[in-house]
Amino acid sequence: MNQKLKEHCGIVGVMHHPQSLQLAYLGIYALQHRGQEGAGIVGFQKPLVVPPYCRIRDGLVNDVFQRKHIQDITLHHAIGHVRYSTSGSKEAVCHQPILRELPDGQYFALAHNGTIPEYQVPSSAPDSRKENDSSQLLTKIINAYDKQQPLESFKQALKNVAGAYCLVVFTPDGMLFARDPWGFRPLVLGKLDQAPIICSESCALDLMGAKFEKEIEPGEIGFIPFSENTISWGRVDEPEAFSTPKQCIFELIYFSRPDSRVFGHGVYDARKKLGRLLAEDFKVKADIVIPVPDSGVAASRGYAEASGIPWDVGIIRNHYVHRTFIAPTEEFRDLGVKIKHNPIREVLEGKDVVVIDDSLVRSTTSRKIIALLRGAGARKIYFGISSPPMAWPCFYGIDTPSRQELIASSHSVAQIQKTIGADALGYLSLQRLQSYFGNRFCYACFSGKYEPAAHTIQGLL
Ligand code: AMP
Repeated sequence: MNQKLKEHCGIVGVMHHPQSLQLAYLGIYALQHRGQEGAGIVGFQKPLVVPPYCRIRDGLVNDVFQRKHIQDITLHHAIGHVRYSTSGSKEAVCHQPILRELPDGQYFALAHNGTIPEYQVPSSAPDSRKENDSSQLLTKIINAYDKQQPLESFKQALKNVAGAYCLVVFTPDGMLFARDPWGFRPLVLGKLDQAPIICSESCALDLMGAKFEKEIEPGEIGFIPFSENTISWGRVDEPEAFSTPKQCIFELIYFSRPDSRVFGHGVYDARKKLGRLLAEDFKVKADIVIPVPDSGVAASRGYAEASGIPWDVGIIRNHYVHRTFIAPTEEFRDLGVKIKHNPIREVLEGKDVVVIDDSLVRSTTSRKIIALLRGAGARKIYFGISSPPMAWPCFYGIDTPSRQELIASSHSVAQIQKTIGADALGYLSLQRLQSYFGNRFCYACFSGKYEPAAHTIQGLL
């Protein structure tokens, strides 16, 4: 599989505000959890001055933007992006927003969150380093673009694009935005002093001091011209998709920030609910419930409430170490967990402990956590996962490893329990998850039922 296609990102678009650069910076700062490998902002002054402001680099938002890059610079329109990619695709050449100058001196720029499985670029293709699903999408939008009817041409460009995309796009005349008809990834509209702001999650609006207006609906598209502060709305033609949205359940389980509102749910509340549901599937007798910090915190609260087992903090996390999951080799991942977590002996010694995490992917974290807890004197260790066994990779924009690397694709629950060294292992059942959250979600990473682009995905597995 071409690793370069995997993108898992956060996007922001700010229009008609004299501090658009500073606001876009705050927006991508709040969305840092959605991508840690690259960050960028492209923007314009009013009246339109070209070339645009453009800063796109490797690294965290704080590394990419220092004071001198954002202070005393006035932009009225800006789009921003944070990028999360796998080890094969870390090159800065893939970072976003993608900025393109046309031969007539006009500019387009695009920031994309999601993956279009059909836009595969063979690694043998000439200059495949620069090609990915986002760049192909931009080419399509540019080719279809009609300045007289920007929204209509956008609609044409997105017709039959089967996959996950949330987009903010600068054209020479304004900003287009879209959420794909399946609604895989979240996208919200907010306002600050009448200035419209589009961003991946509501937590970005909170940091900007902006008011949440609404979630962009699956298939909804919009255009905000540079010339006036208005939004014209439209829809992508994909009537079948609207009847069955495929919002990513993993956004609620793990990916979104717990202080965001996503797909009509408060994320913290949804995670707590997942813990409550898990308590029905995984019943054990224990002295305390503890979370894997921070990913298991909300679910562990729900589990403790529903089971009646007292909640405590048994592991402290060092917050200055970044997520283990993006480390490129097994060796680094192992080191990451050790650096990251330290058990509290006084809480754990001689106790039967339920440990809750939101997901188990390769099993690296759970194995290490269990070893740490045993070392700190825990007697029995029961590991609860507030999601079903993840046996299938995501082709719609979440960074999951290949099928072979997902332990649940080749091991039964009993085998995984043995591998991680737990006294019991329990998952939330897919049936219980689905019956609570309903059919407006994508569960493909648990069920293997891919839609849309099922046929293309079969070829990639
Ligand atoms: P693993 O250690 O491979 O079993 O991964 C499970 C741990 O990684 C859990 O603590 C999750 O919270 C976290 N996790 C799950 N999915 C992802 C992801 N896409 N990126 C980063 N971390 C993840």
